[in-house]
Amino acid sequence: MKKLLFALLAFQVISCTGEKKEPSVASSHSSTETLALNLDEGKGIVNYSDSPHVALKSIDIGDCRWTEGFWADKWKIAEETMVPHMGEILKGDIGHAYNNFKIAAGLKEGEHKGFWWHDGDFYKWMEASTYIYAVNKDEKIAEELDEIISVIAQAQLENGYLSTPIIIRDDIEPFSNRRYHELYNSGHLMTAACIHNRVTGKTNFLDIAIKNADYLYNLFSPKPEHLKRFGFNQTQIMGLVELYRTTKDKRYLELAEQFINMRGTYKIEDDETTKGYPIGDMVQERVPLREETEAVGHAVLALYYYAGAADVYAETGEKALIDALDRLWENVTHKKMYVTGAVGQTHYGRSSRLDKIEEGFIDEYMMPNLTAYNETCANICNSMFNYRMLSLSGDPKHGDIMELVLHNSGLSGISLEGTHYYYSNPLRKIDGALDYEKMNVEFPERQPYLECFCCPPNLVRTIAKSPSWAYSKSQNGIAVNLYGGNELNTELLDGSPLKLRQQSNYPWDGAVKITINECKGDAFDLLLRIPQWAKGTTIKVNGEAVENVTPGQFAKINRKWSAGDVIEMDMPMETKFIEGHPRIEEVRNQVALKRGPVVYCIESADLPKGTDITDVYLSSDLKFSPSYKPDFLGGVTTLDGDILIRNDKTNGMYSVVEQPKFTTYSTHLIPYYAWSNRGQGEMSVFLPIIWNRQ
Ligand SMILES: [Zn+2]
Repeated sequence: MKKLLFALLAFQVISCTGEKKEPSVASSHSSTETLALNLDEGKGIVNYSDSPHVALKSIDIGDCRWTEGFWADKWKIAEETMVPHMGEILKGDIGHAYNNFKIAAGLKEGEHKGFWWHDGDFYKWMEASTYIYAVNKDEKIAEELDEIISVIAQAQLENGYLSTPIIIRDDIEPFSNRRYHELYNSGHLMTAACIHNRVTGKTNFLDIAIKNADYLYNLFSPKPEHLKRFGFNQTQIMGLVELYRTTKDKRYLELAEQFINMRGTYKIEDDETTKGYPIGDMVQERVPLREETEAVGHAVLALYYYAGAADVYAETGEKALIDALDRLWENVTHKKMYVTGAVGQTHYGRSSRLDKIEEGFIDEYMMPNLTAYNETCANICNSMFNYRMLSLSGDPKHGDIMELVLHNSGLSGISLEGTHYYYSNPLRKIDGALDYEKMNVEFPERQPYLECFCCPPNLVRTIAKSPSWAYSKSQNGIAVNLYGGNELNTELLDGSPLKLRQQSNYPWDGAVKITINECKGDAFDLLLRIPQWAKGTTIKVNGEAVENVTPGQFAKINRKWSAGDVIEMDMPMETKFIEGHPRIEEVRNQVALKRGPVVYCIESADLPKGTDITDVYLSSDLKFSPSYKPDFLGGVTTLDGDILIRNDKTNGMYSVVEQPKFTTYSTHLIPYYAWSNRGQGEMSVFLPIIWNRQ
């Protein structure tokens, strides 16, 4: 009965516009006809194979696998613990995500549990599981996914609608309020289904996504007045473009672009579809994207939106769109991003145009450490946006941000063993400074489950797909985006085979050795990303030095390669003090320590008992030396050296100060991502520094 009601509702929505549209023939046949065309084509993490405005194209999922070192270790934890453990949670009664689909399908009694976007988070876990399967080919994973997909298919309404909280509840109509996140759920459905199709060749999941996308097209393409402010938490733009790439059905690209075009074209005031959630800059609807000059609002919403717009640009090549994305990238990266690559400075605040903001961007250079919000999802979205910008432009500065997030504010979202999660990722923790009882997503330590479960599967799917980010295909060659021990077995864009092996203990060591195992006889390019921080990097090919190696650029080596050729790259891993822009008041006269891409912090566990983190100082003449400790915190390089601990305490709001007294203490700093794995304590990335004026 409920299903029939929804079908009628969708029909009414369409017909009241006076432009009732029947699903096109192409659409109703798309799941069979177009797939036959598609299955042998691109299987990239983002399928750029036919995208006309892309400089670097994705390698196929499964072409690269981590074999040794840092990312191999993390990926193994993802395979053995993160993904299966999360599956147990989400399929069980605590996570309840699978239960929701079973209830919606009529296979189980019960109520919906979890937030409106819980379906989307379940799809993210399915996507993660698919990436693991792409590498290990464990058929149990494929079978489990098939079983889940059959339940999802039964939960989907006849007309294609699919969002379990609304299907299960009797009191809410579909698309009556944008905070119900139906488009977010659809976006993750489409992305996960496209990835599943690429990896398995099956269409069972894809058919569900197509049916849902057709429903959305019929609903939104007539541009009904009351739906124009939807497009909330816009993962559907990425999902629709990916579905277009998979099926070649242009309606999906058209709809993706429509979600950009609709935004910011109406009066900003509360209406029936927006009640219960902040409006305006909070959801990037105050200014149309092509005119926007500042990153505003909820940081996850913003960066999903930008990433989706980058996907649309890859297909349309519209200059106004890429100009806006370049502007927004500059604004995020150089005025609103933390040293860890994290974004979204505050839990609550105002935009520069005075709209209420939650979990998002605030003023330029306003970068609190203690109260930094930095949702794990926002940080991950920053790297997703940068992967797309790297692909569009071929500019390795975007690869630097991907690397920064991956090694710092991404990984900090999960415990070393892979079972506990942080939602927010501040740069300082002081005991007693925050009342965690009053907060819903900030915690004194990582949690085994978060009721708002968006971040954990977002991070786990990113670790699971990280090998696919490691390389891209250039016009006539291969680009190395990320460093770490791996094997690549791919084809260049001309179809010629390329096999190579990368050996490295990166990020602890800057030495990278790449051995060509198989390649074509004609000359081609090997592009090596030289991070901006890697001054003094040297490259040798078969022992001969390569000229023109410039930080912040790809080193392009064009030659005829042959099996057995060896490229040796050495990035000097110096420990550096990092200071903030003079306008970041929160870090005036403080520094962070960074070695290669890894940002460090100091934690209570490495201080004398009872030491306040705010009493820790650095001195410019006290040096730190790196020390690799294979059995500490999963294998990390610590920075060992002396710090200063201030002994005289003041508690007044303002106090007269004379020469403070310090004690020298030998300890180590640890990588920021590994903090809070040794019980509760205090932590700080930025520390005040006493400069020796010699
Ligand atoms: Zn999240």
